[in-house]
Amino acid sequence: MSELNLILLGPPGAGKGTQAGRLVEDFDLPYYATGDILRTAVKNETELGRAAKQNMDRGELVPDDVITGVIGERVDSAEARDGFILDGFPRTIPQAEALDRMLGELDRRLTAALLIDAPDEEVIRRLSGRRICVQDQHLYHLDFDPPKHDGKCDRDGSRLIQRDDDKPETIKRRLEVYHEQTHPLIDYYEQAALLRRFDGCRTQAEVHDHIRATLATLRLESEL
Ligand SMILES: [Zn+2]
Repeated sequence: MSELNLILLGPPGAGKGTQAGRLVEDFDLPYYATGDILRTAVKNETELGRAAKQNMDRGELVPDDVITGVIGERVDSAEARDGFILDGFPRTIPQAEALDRMLGELDRRLTAALLIDAPDEEVIRRLSGRRICVQDQHLYHLDFDPPKHDGKCDRDGSRLIQRDDDKPETIKRRLEVYHEQTHPLIDYYEQAALLRRFDGCRTQAEVHDHIRATLATLRLESEL
């Protein structure tokens, strides 16, 4: 069976995390989300964590070579032999080129860049409706998954709050950063004929079916 070496692109709130979870189940692939990897490293105070924390404490981005090194190790690990799903990497063209180089050295290549897209106004609607409980971070959504009692967690009764990340001003800023960073990557993968687009406004099940069908076709093509 051929490998599935995938990256996920898309704005916050378009359902990337959900689709990643389904792909992990469908294809038994490891999922490497840069944000999670860094948070865990900081928490466990690993060498990477300490380096990353220094940068973050200074309000700087974690340098390309640090992130690239971490992703390189994961991609080259035994669990990623049949493929992987990257989320949050690459974020820049140099990172994308580094990934191509690392895969090339392993005699592998990217299978596809999956873009789960949604317009800004939909992203704002989805994210600004999120609420989270102060006790255990249980998630709710005012439109899609409201609590039984206003402002209270169904499971532990604790207060529901809106995270700073989910406030409209913050979402708009995140979207600006997202567009600025991601448009060059979309062009990069489009030129490499690796970009596959999915409509994040559809239901999660529809997006999932579309992604599976696309990957099945890509696998068939690569086996010819
Ligand atoms: Zn709760």
